[in-house]
Amino acid sequence: MLPFALAIISLVAAGFALWPVLNGSPAGALGGETDSVLGRLLQRKRTLFENLGDLELEHSMGKMPTQDYESMRDALELQAALVLEHIDLLQRTRASDNHDAAARFCILCGESLPARARFCSACGGKVA
Ligand SMILES: [Zn+2]
Repeated sequence: MLPFALAIISLVAAGFALWPVLNGSPAGALGGETDSVLGRLLQRKRTLFENLGDLELEHSMGKMPTQDYESMRDALELQAALVLEHIDLLQRTRASDNHDAAARFCILCGESLPARARFCSACGGKVA
């Protein structure tokens, strides 16, 4: 019985941890969706850095054993690194989307080009 209860508890915990991310997933407007995910990630980043700051302060005031401090700091830094990586990925994806959304035309024949086209479909010219 106990292992089963533990499994339920960890599932619920995982559900709560993932909820802010999963919650934003229903098919919606892509731009707004990206913004709200990005907004949540930026909020999460702020919180993590605040927590790191608090942790740093508590340790410097001698309120926290160094071993606890180091393991908590490592955990927070790992989360912060993941969040930063995710933010970076989202921002780069969005930047390249914006780039592709801008009108692109073949410099040889003036044909409009689909996003990510490498060659012009009309004249076969290489796209810069
Ligand atoms: Zn062309």
